[in-house]
Order: sequence, then structure tokens, then C-alpha cells
Amino acid sequence: MEKRELLYEGKAKKVYATDDGGLLVVSYKDDATALNGLKRGSIAGKGVINNKMTNLLMARLEQQGIPTHFVKQLSDRDTLVKKVAIVPLEVIVRNISAGSFAKRYGVEEGIVFAAPTLEFSYKNDALGDPLLNDSHALALGLATEEEIAAIRRYALAVNELLKEFWLECGVTLVDFKLEFGRLPGGAIVLADEISPDTCRLWDSKTHEKLDKDRFRRDLGGTEEAYEEVMRRLCEHI
Ligand code: ADP
Ligand code: UDP
Repeated sequence: MEKRELLYEGKAKKVYATDDGGLLVVSYKDDATALNGLKRGSIAGKGVINNKMTNLLMARLEQQGIPTHFVKQLSDRDTLVKKVAIVPLEVIVRNISAGSFAKRYGVEEGIVFAAPTLEFSYKNDALGDPLLNDSHALALGLATEEEIAAIRRYALAVNELLKEFWLECGVTLVDFKLEFGRLPGGAIVLADEISPDTCRLWDSKTHEKLDKDRFRRDLGGTEEAYEEVMRRLCEHI
């Protein structure tokens, strides 16, 4: 399937039309942003890793009963996906305190929760992706009650599946962000990506950060960290 018109260029990916109105090509870039776009840079080889990792994980989730947009990988950086209407919610699942949770509630990073937490942000760059709850999402007409219920159920199921899988790779899944979309018939499916850009992944033994926090916090070794988690995943899949 050929890439046609560029429909959208985001911070980490480009989205192209194809000759099939129901399919898109997403193309993963090495560009990285953080702090709502204030910090910009590039992580060499990231696009190739994020493309491959997302596809391996989505294919596995599909096998385990989670519907996704994934169709097939076309090249190192390009993947064919089902076109969806993205639900403008960033769905964040957390197993351990970190990032904005730690900051917002004034707690240290690394507190292991008794049960996962789930939160929504309004996917809106101009507003800085503000946190919102179910009733806010309903009031804004972002999703229906049934859609929110499906999203919540899928997100928690994805967490259980990914947490267990990453643990087998010696990696602790701290938190992550998912996006969901509607297929033309209205069914909700998992979309976008699952990568070290969108997940916090810590070495299970040393708690070393193997994700985008290395870039966000100028820790160095970002490329090596992405390569390391990819290597561990491939050894295990
Ligand atoms: P951002 O828009 O946050 O800068 P990206 O650079 O990752 O993010 O751009 C990819 C865009 O494509 C995102 O807006 C994402 O919501 C959207 N997207 C992901 N999967 C699909 C899909 N299957 N159909 C339509 N849009 C999608
Ligand atoms: N996340 C993301 N995109 C966003 C915001 C968050 O992929 O726009 C991911 C982030 O990588 C982390 C999780 O969601 O794995 C929780 O992020 P958090 O709310 O702690 O915000 P951050 O620390 O990234 O500002």
C-alpha cells in the first residue's frame, strides 16, 4: 500500500492517506518533544524502534483479545493502520508513582500502588492536555458513557497484559498513555503507539530509566536505553 497525501504531521509521527479510504500510513520520526513542546530534540533511531515495538505489542494484544488499529508493518518506519476518529482523551494508567502524578500530589516517585490508577487528559495541545474526569469528558461531548466504559475496560486489560509481559523482559511498567479511536461502525479500538515515548519503563532490578525520561530530564544515554528495551523485548517475543 503506497503513501499518498500527507494528512498530518505531529510531534513524533506523520500520517498519510492511502488509496484505501479506510487505511492510513503512520511514519515514525526521530523528533522528540517534552514539556508541552518547550523542549525539542531528536533521538537517533527512535522512529525505527517505536514503530517496531508498537507493532510487536499491538499484534500481541490483538492475539489476547484487545482490538487495535494495527494492520501491517510496511518498512522500518512505516506502518499501515485502520483509519479511526481519535477520541481526544489521553488515557493514562499508572502502577507506580512518577512524573506528573508525583509532582501534582507532592509524593516521591516509586510508590507501588495497591491497584492501578486510571486518569484522562483532554488531548488538546493549546490547553496543555488538562486533566479531566468522566463527567467532564461527557459534558464536553468527547465520548459517550458506553465509550468511556469500553476505554476504561480496555486500558486496564492492556495494563495487566503489558505489565506481565514487560516483567518477563526484566522491565517494570511504571505508567503509560494510550489513545483510542472509533472505527466507521463505531467500535472502539486501541490506536496510536506504545513505546518508550509513551510508557515509563524501569529496569526491574536497578530501576534504571529506560524511556523518554532520559530525554526529558537530560540524563544522557537515551538512544542506548531505547535500544536496550527493544533488545529485551525481541529476546522475549
Ligand atoms: P501528536 O499529534 O500528539 O503530535 P503524533 O506525532 O504521534 O502525535 O501524531 C500522530 C497522530 O495520529 C496523533 O494525533 C494520533 O492521535 C493520530 N493517530 C494515531 N493512530 C491513528 C489512526 N489509526 N487513525 C487516525 N489517527 C491516528
Ligand atoms: N504521556 C504521553 N504523552 C503525553 C503525556 C504523557 O505519552 O502527552 C505518557 C508518559 O510518557 C508517561 C505517562 O503518560 O509514561 C504519564 O505521564 P505523566 O502524566 O506523568 O506526565 P509527564 O511526566 O510526561 O509530564
